[in-house]
Order: sequence, then structure tokens, then C-alpha cells
Amino acid sequence: MSFHSFYQRASSLFKAYPSTSKILLLSTFSGGGGVLVYSDSNPLKRILHADATLDSDGNPIRKKKVVVLGSGWSGYSFLSYLNNPNYDVQVVSPRNFFLFTPLLPSVTNGTVEARSIVEPIRGLMRKKGFEYKEAECVKIDASNKKIHCRSKEGSSLKGTTEFDMDYDILILAVGAKPNTFNTPGVEEHAYFLKEAEDALNIRHSVIDCFERASLPNLTEEERKKILHFVVVGGGPTGVEFSAELHDFLVQDVAKIYPKVQEFTKITLLEAGDHILNMFDKRITAFAEEKFQRDGIDLKTGSMVVGVTADEISTKERETGKIVSEPYGMVVWSTGIGSRPVIKDFMQQIGQGQRRVLATDEWLRVEGCDGVYALGDTATINQRRVMEDIAAIFNKADKGNTGTLKKKDFNSVVKDICQRYPQVELYLKKNKLKNIANLLKSANGEDTQVNIEKFKQALSEVDSQMKNLPATAQVASQQGKYLAKCFNKMEKCEKKPEGPLRFRGEGRHRFQPFRYRHFGSFAPLGGEQTAAELPGDWVSIGHSSQWLWYSVYASKLVSWRTRMLVISDWTRRFVFGRDSSSI
Ligand code: FAD
Ligand code: MG
Repeated sequence: MSFHSFYQRASSLFKAYPSTSKILLLSTFSGGGGVLVYSDSNPLKRILHADATLDSDGNPIRKKKVVVLGSGWSGYSFLSYLNNPNYDVQVVSPRNFFLFTPLLPSVTNGTVEARSIVEPIRGLMRKKGFEYKEAECVKIDASNKKIHCRSKEGSSLKGTTEFDMDYDILILAVGAKPNTFNTPGVEEHAYFLKEAEDALNIRHSVIDCFERASLPNLTEEERKKILHFVVVGGGPTGVEFSAELHDFLVQDVAKIYPKVQEFTKITLLEAGDHILNMFDKRITAFAEEKFQRDGIDLKTGSMVVGVTADEISTKERETGKIVSEPYGMVVWSTGIGSRPVIKDFMQQIGQGQRRVLATDEWLRVEGCDGVYALGDTATINQRRVMEDIAAIFNKADKGNTGTLKKKDFNSVVKDICQRYPQVELYLKKNKLKNIANLLKSANGEDTQVNIEKFKQALSEVDSQMKNLPATAQVASQQGKYLAKCFNKMEKCEKKPEGPLRFRGEGRHRFQPFRYRHFGSFAPLGGEQTAAELPGDWVSIGHSSQWLWYSVYASKLVSWRTRMLVISDWTRRFVFGRDSSSI
């Protein structure tokens, strides 16, 4: 390096990082070269080593600060796939680990240990050179691009620390909170199943109930009350938890607490007509029958209206009456709602009227620059084909003839299907191969279509629009998708997408997010699982249970957790579950 270019580089660094000039000593110059002595101070070292941080003129590029909130499915996936040295990445999450939620119900009865399904975040931070702060974001100041954070109160450290952080890009991956629908008494008396601590609390409480019911001087009624387990919500989590609890009662409690076993009862309450209503009807029917056979008291059309320390009250749809029952333990699993910090943020950006934060198809929060949202935090506000129909038509109608021929579509068909996933769903549902067939079926012939016929043919398509489910599958795919977009940005200034083809000229640089569904499982206990796989393929029974074991083992994020979970499963097969209340 010539002295001149060295001097240029050094002086531009001083300009960008004035504070570093204190530690940089140009000690000796001899001939055309020099010796550069600098301390271990990280930013300077990084900037001198990594040419990626200098532009073509040798001037340092200020790294864009990307702040990621959350270390769950979407945040962890984003961080794992992000590989762009042009970003200064800071992670804020109150949880210094990733939690593999699909196995959380198995923690409630000791089939799997909590530590086996968590992956510390620090390892990933070190590997990637990202920074982590164990704190919760309590306020987003969107207009000043700042967040306000608070550390959580530790068990030994009293008090909290508060700090502000600024950002260029903010990634919201904070998930959601359990939704109580403001039902009185739920926050105070029910258990949730969302975090690792929740699963451990449930496990301790179940064992406590059995120990309490085994004490002398209790009446039969009291024992029945203590051993009445109520699960609220017939979605996948409530059903899986009920099944896990039932397995524990049948396989372990019968041996460990033979005297009180006869007093146990599990009640599953569901406000709708059926449990697992997002699954295929065959699965719902099988699950309902199996639960009846197992002696789980399944009550549908039963809406919880209040919980006190001793009783749970429901309104029965058939009779309209309020019924109260004593219980020993209630687990609440009725869905999710937005976190307070997100609700407040929605107010600031004009989304206060919405139930869930909305993003566009590139996962950018609508109405707010530089903020992205992933996973359970937000939903994609899918654009309607009908909103853009005139633009689509004009784009295809290159000669401005007012009519379209089949070949005219070829240029826009791919874009239509990409931008509007509902078109593909509609074609699939109606067993049509492509849009030309759709036009043909709508118009009876294939030759020419005017805008009215075009509108008519596509008029039903928007009815296929569906929000993506709040699942780990969606969250992790969104994290991976966004990281890949960020990786592709050669320079940080570039936005992850170009102008839309239909709204302006040119083609967008990044495809919008597209979800790929790989199927879902509903474990039903007794080594039986229902699986719904793409292509309407339904399988229920022991074979799906083995599929479940292998899929979940493969989806665990590290070999360490994989080994731990497999050894937990083996231990359970050989020795049964651990019933100690520690
Ligand atoms: P999370 O994974 O919930 O992550 C949120 C992160 O944000 C956490 O690290 C949290 O500590 C952090 N955070 C919270 N508040 C703040 C804040 N203010 N500031 C900063 N950080 C914050 N899905 C499936 O696909 N298959 C399954 O089998 C399945 N089983 C499930 C079983 C259970 C018991 C549960 C509860 C969920 C299950 N899910 C399953 C759903 C799945 O877990 C969620 O959809 C997924 O976790 C959503 O990912 P996320 O990144 O949006 O949020
Ligand atoms: Mg999610």
C-alpha cells in the first residue's frame, strides 16, 4: 500500500470514527510503508480488516444498524440465515435462548426436559458477530427510529436497567401473548402454555395436585376437585396437552398414585362445535372419538365466562345456562393476541383500528419506513387482484387494443401468480391449469377477452385469500426469506424490492414472500398422531407417530438438542416419566 493511499484510508477512518483516533498510533514510517499500531478495540479492527466496509474510493461505509426484537422462531431463523457484513446487527430479547415450541406440551408431563428443547442464543451471536442484549423492548418510537428497552428482573439481581437504542432497520419478531379475551379470573388463576417456564409450572402443578390429593383427611369430593384438570381451547395446543396429560395419567399415575387414580378427570372445553377445526374433518372426527374412548370429557359449545380460585364457569350454547364446576387446575390455550408494545406501535403508525399489525408481501410494516415484522407479530395484508385489475390488463395489452389474446398473457401470468397467491389457490381448487384456462372456462372461448370479461373471470379469485396461520412453520420461513433478501442487497442503501411491475415500470428485485405448507401434525396421545400433508393426504395412527418423531427430531435447531430430545424419548420408553416435583 502506498503511503498516499494508506494516509487516505486512515484519514477517512478518523473522519468516520473520531473517537478511534485516540487509540490509533502511527508510530514509524520508513520508506514507502508504515507500521500501524492499533488497540483491540473492535470497530476499528473490523473496519481495517474487512474491505467490505470500505467503498470503492476507500471511504468507510457506515454500517446500517439492524435491531432485531425477539429470539423465537422468526427472529432465530432470520439471524441464522443473515450473512451480510454490511449490517451492524443488535438483538434484543428477554429470553437468551430459542425455544422449540412444538415439543412444549411434552415438557408439561416430563416426556421431554425443558433444557432439551432450548438453544442458547449466545452461541449464534458469537459465530455471527452479532450483539445481544437481554431486555424487553417496552416502547417503539417510530418517528425518531428509537426503541426503549428494559432489562428483566433477575432472581438475584433486584431492580431493572433501562436504555434506548436507535436503529436504521427494525425487525419485529416479538411473537404474541396468550389471549384471554378479557375473561375474568383467567390471568390470576389459569396456567398458560407459551414459554418454557409455563410448561415447567404446569408440570409442578400437576404433580402437586396428585401429592395434595394423596394426603389424609380429605373427602372424596375434595380429592375429585383437586384432580379435576380443565383445559380450555380445542386447538392443536389444547388438544395435544390434554392427550399428553391423559397419557401421563394412564401410563404413570396409575402406578405411582394408585389410591387416587380413580378420582382424576380431564375436561376439555371448546366454544365452537368441534375441536381441531383447522384440520381435515376426518382428523377432527377421529380425535373426538378417541378422546371419548379415553374418558376425556370433551365439551363443545361451552364458553368459559369466568374463573375463580375454586370454580370455572361456562355458558352452554345449547341451554344458554351458566354452569360452574370445581377444579384443581386450569390450563388456558385459546389463541393469541398482540403484545402491548406492538399495540402501542400500531396506534403510532395509524394501524390502531386493526386487530393484528399488517405488513405488505415483503414483510414491511405498512405505514412505517424501515420496519419489518415477522411471525406471530403480524399478518400479511394480501393485495386483492381486483384492486389492480385495470393495471394488470393494461400491462398485458401491449398494443392498447382493448382486448387480450392468449399469448398476451404469457408476459404477465408469472407476475400475477407470484404477486397474488390467491390466483394459484383458485386455479388449484377449480382444477384449472393456468389463467388462460380460467378465462376459457369463464368465457366459453379462448380467443379474445376485453376488460369486462377479464374482470368477470378473475372476480372469484379474491375469495380464496386467507391469512397465514400463526405457526412456527410460517415464522421460520419468513425469517429465512427476509434474511435472504437482506443478504442479496449489495449495498445497504438499496431497498429489498424494486418498483412493482403493475404499479410502475420495471420488475421488483425480490419476490414477495410465499409460504410453502409442508403439512401439520396433531398428536393425540397413546402413540397416535394425525398428520395432514400437502395434497389432501391424511394419515392417522401409529405410523404417523413415527413420522412425527422423525420430523420433529430433524427440525430441532442443533445436534445438541436433537441428541437430548432423542435420549429423553428413549428414557421415557425405558423408565417412564419422572414424577418428582423439582
Ligand atoms: P416466538 O417464537 O414466540 O418468539 C418471540 C420472541 O420475542 C421470544 O424470544 C420472546 O422472548 C421475544 N419477545 C417477547 N416480547 C418482546 C419484547 N417486548 N421485546 C423483545 N423481545 C420480545 N407451530 C407449529 O408450526 N407447529 C407446532 O407444532 C407448534 N406447536 C406449538 C406448541 C405450543 C405450546 C405453542 C405455544 C406454540 C406452538 N406453535 C407451533 C406455534 C409457534 O410456536 C409460533 O407460531 C411461533 O413461535 C411464532 O414465532 P415468532 O417468532 O413469531 O414468536
Ligand atoms: Mg409467528
